Amino acid sequence: MLSFTNGDFKVYNIEEWQGEFASPEQLFAGFDPREFAHFAAQIPHAYYRPETNSLYAFLQSWVVRAGDLTILYDTGAGNHKDRPGIPVFGGLDTPFLANLAADGFEPDDIDIVICSHLHIDHVGWNTQLQDGQWVPTFANARYLLPRIDRSYWDPGITDGPRPSPTGAQVNANVFEDSVQPILDAGQAQLVDDGHIVAPGITLTLHPGHTPGHLVMHLESAGEQAMFVGDILHHPAQIFQPDWNSVYCEDPAAARSSRRQILARAAKTGARVVPAHFGGAHFAWVEEHGEGFRPRFGNPI
Ligand SMILES: [Zn+2]
Repeated sequence: MLSFTNGDFKVYNIEEWQGEFASPEQLFAGFDPREFAHFAAQIPHAYYRPETNSLYAFLQSWVVRAGDLTILYDTGAGNHKDRPGIPVFGGLDTPFLANLAADGFEPDDIDIVICSHLHIDHVGWNTQLQDGQWVPTFANARYLLPRIDRSYWDPGITDGPRPSPTGAQVNANVFEDSVQPILDAGQAQLVDDGHIVAPGITLTLHPGHTPGHLVMHLESAGEQAMFVGDILHHPAQIFQPDWNSVYCEDPAAARSSRRQILARAAKTGARVVPAHFGGAHFAWVEEHGEGFRPRFGNPI
């Protein structure tokens, strides 16, 4: 039931799950507690709970209404999936589709699904269980999938770059139950850097977290927003862009992509909408010394 406008586009937040996900030590590769202490007090309670030393996270999707088009960006973890690599996202039974309906959208209303990348918590609602089979949830949609991730995460492909041991373990079963059925149904469209979804809606490639990670840019009537997926997991990475998550496949490229996105956001004034932010669910970014600072909006 949360929404904002970006020029002529209307954007709806669709919640799937929220909770204390991990400690900073667990999520960030190269975490330095002394450095964190310098800025932790500037991170609102909606994102970090000092009393439990927990990062508070959301799984969420975004619906963009642009003219007659209804676009769903990222599809969460999904219900009833077998997730041995990350049990917290296995066997879920969330009211995601009811939350979508509360904003006025039935699954058949979705024209385009976009997956920022093919990780466990971004592709889940691509499919749902029907008579023991995983079938596309959004029967009328074209699913735009990053071409590079489609090859990288396919367990049936053995040549070329392959997932890290952590990536393969955490994403066990994901391709099989949430991507392959979309390919089999003929609903997938593999897309590359610069893909234009519709006037004012463009996808750009920012490798590192995964090799095919896509950012969605909205531009309408002078307003800009960037849906940055997992380029940023948490506001701490705006203060310290060199901290990757432990789920980033290529650490050097992930740091580089994060700095590029933050620099662009600071320059253009675009609203930055990451996949897992709670609170207002987005932030603006300003340059600060050699790094950046977030400016949080009011909760939407
Ligand atoms: Zn991810």
